Amino acid sequence: MTRAIHPFEALMDITARPSTVFVRGEGAWLWDDSGKRYLDFIQGWAVNCLGHSPPLVAEALAAQAKRLITPSPAFYNDVSLTLAKALVDQSCFDRVFFANSGAEANEGAIKLARKYGALHKDGAFEIISFEGGFHGRTLATMSASGKKAFEPLFEPKVPGFRKARLNDLASVEALINANTIAVMLEPIQGEAGVWPATDQFLKELRALTRRHGLLLISDEIQTGMGRTGKLFHYEHAHVEPDIMTLGKGIGGGVPLAALLATAQAACFEHGDQGGTFNGNALMCAAGLAVLQEVGKPEFLKSAADAGLFLESELQKLSARHGLGDVRGRGLLLALDLKLPIGAAIVAQALQGGLLLNSPQPDALRFMPALNVTREEILQMIDGLETILTRAGTARLVA
Ligand code: PLP
Repeated sequence: MTRAIHPFEALMDITARPSTVFVRGEGAWLWDDSGKRYLDFIQGWAVNCLGHSPPLVAEALAAQAKRLITPSPAFYNDVSLTLAKALVDQSCFDRVFFANSGAEANEGAIKLARKYGALHKDGAFEIISFEGGFHGRTLATMSASGKKAFEPLFEPKVPGFRKARLNDLASVEALINANTIAVMLEPIQGEAGVWPATDQFLKELRALTRRHGLLLISDEIQTGMGRTGKLFHYEHAHVEPDIMTLGKGIGGGVPLAALLATAQAACFEHGDQGGTFNGNALMCAAGLAVLQEVGKPEFLKSAADAGLFLESELQKLSARHGLGDVRGRGLLLALDLKLPIGAAIVAQALQGGLLLNSPQPDALRFMPALNVTREEILQMIDGLETILTRAGTARLVA
């Protein structure tokens, strides 16, 4: 029996969505059900590192789907072994656990740190995370997050998280006590509006955590997989964490995430961690196709160049319209608008066929595909210029 409800109502109403319905994507472009085309500088929230429906990923998925999808996480499968080995070979980590979302990978990182505390530090369990940080929407990852809007939600939170201030080492040091086991951070706070930890802070934080025997957990769910112009953000400051999480880009658009750890930190015992779909061959095939492409030095170089080009075009645009700084790294950048006009710009951009994100009222965030072209960057700048020129920044204020 067909019920008289609109399909929009059949989905739980968990966020304000525009009424646009997307039906097709290719590279930097999306099409809605009326045939209208959109230039996408959101890319599934920094997920589609190779753009929409990249042939590389589509072909890997199609071929794998015909061969083997899920033998069960209680058995090895060839693809997850190959991907785990490739991640270990290309990073400073020794062990990998595959997950299905960033939050699940972070939940695993929190469990791993607590396990490490139980085994090696008298049951220490507290994790120092950061104001403004975002680590996901499970109860523990919401508790680890420092997002103000999360504070009153779903009380009581998971205990054991204390919040320091990014780039303020003394604020971290002040929170360390006998119960502390780890420090967890995003090297660039993405959801908070693209606020980078400085290289200097990361170096000092590493030294501090070593001095106190604490694990350093880097949430690279947004910054990993080439997003900042290196395969992993930790390579910029040469600061090697004990635990790192990946998500978003690693699947090139499909649900895949990973928890990586050094041999010393990887202390899970049988029964501690697992999940039905973890490391399934289908998603790992996508991850392997992505890593083989994104991990190429020439790919990373061109993503880094595209990031510098986007940054300089945004700086010029900002100067023309009296806006603020451009911050971030590689292809994870934000433009400071100086006024709360982000939502108005995003709405007008959508009408004009351009997808932009405003993580905070006074900022726009840019996270295009890593293979975005200069022409697409200029098209986006042109679209933004039109909005700013037509309305004038003052008139965009709600
Ligand atoms: N950590 C960071 C830094 C993120 O940006 C996100 C998602 O935006 C997450 C964790 C959560 O990932 P997921 O939405 O895949 O659970």
